[in-house]
Amino acid sequence: MLGKIARKLRIFGFDTVYESKIDDMDILNSSKYHGRIVLTSDRALFRRCKKKGLDTILVDKRTEVENLVTIFRSLDVESINSQELPNFCTCCNGLLDTIIDKNSIKNKIPDRLLHTKDIFYKCSQCNKIYWIGSHMERIARLIKEINMKL
Ligand SMILES: [Zn+2]
Repeated sequence: MLGKIARKLRIFGFDTVYESKIDDMDILNSSKYHGRIVLTSDRALFRRCKKKGLDTILVDKRTEVENLVTIFRSLDVESINSQELPNFCTCCNGLLDTIIDKNSIKNKIPDRLLHTKDIFYKCSQCNKIYWIGSHMERIARLIKEINMKL
């Protein structure tokens, strides 16, 4: 569940690190060092973070939408904007670069995309290629649903 939420947060333009195999001490140290907010479904970890004075949000609702609404309320986010330009790789949180010459990636994407799309992005870390596609409609619906609840 948190992995999926991390991907959504990146789509919404939030710089989000996700680790599924990391021990609590490392989470505490790393978030303190990097000034990050800890999102966790683990009540014990949530309490430890609070005790250490770290910003932390308990993500323990049943649905993704409820969890995202909880997170944004905690962050005083009043509404989510559709990202006109994607910022972060949904897989690794790397920054996305706009590809200037789409022919430079023609071996990496299906032909039909090369002919129908003009704007592509490449992750600066894992090299994954992105384009604005039909999933944006699903995201737009999700944003609408979240904004209605904020
Ligand atoms: Zn990446």
